[in-house]
Amino acid sequence: MTDHTPKIVYRFGDNIYLNITNRCPNLCVFCIKTKWKMDFHGNNLNLVGNEPTVLEILRVLDEEMRRAPFNEIVFCGYGEPTMRLDVLLYVAQTLKGWQAQAKFPPFKIRLNTNGLGERINHKSIVQDLRRVVDIVNVSVNAENEEKWRQLVRPEAEYQDAYPDVLSFLQSCVEAHFDKVILSCVDKVGADTVALAKLAQKMGAALYVRSFLDENN
Ligand code: SF4
Repeated sequence: MTDHTPKIVYRFGDNIYLNITNRCPNLCVFCIKTKWKMDFHGNNLNLVGNEPTVLEILRVLDEEMRRAPFNEIVFCGYGEPTMRLDVLLYVAQTLKGWQAQAKFPPFKIRLNTNGLGERINHKSIVQDLRRVVDIVNVSVNAENEEKWRQLVRPEAEYQDAYPDVLSFLQSCVEAHFDKVILSCVDKVGADTVALAKLAQKMGAALYVRSFLDENN
């Protein structure tokens, strides 16, 4: 029988993903939240407004980490994790402690973000993230501001935020995380060659994610 319980923690590939919020200031043309009706490969990620507490997250995460091997713990969503910055930092800090205690085999902690975290939280967040996160993947998605607005369709308050996304990425590179990734989606109109050049210029790795549609 299919389990429709909203998932805070889910598996994909060799990684464990954390779904701590469904809120996001963007409405990307390629977002699969609506197309897949909040389902991700059989996991119901619709929190229906009931965002999990830190204790709930850590309880199910601890269970999942014991269940089977994994490479990374990824703050991802359906939603923008930095919308809940305090929760993100607390959970990641706890994971850092588990790393230090070797409570589990070695793993990395990754944040997948739309790069708006500093605008959302009205402050610099890179150094706080640097203490508790190993890898940052910033969904830049476009090689210029006009295309960024077309592809990610930000809320009114964030219409001018493309330079802030790039600035956040640059700060992450300069903060020397284990890895900083500039990511985009193929087949949606982004110029992946220009984005590869941008990533190289900024000192980030490039990741071109496959476009997911109803048939994936
Ligand atoms: S930033 Fe992520 S969660 Fe937000 S709309 Fe875009 S793809 Fe969806």
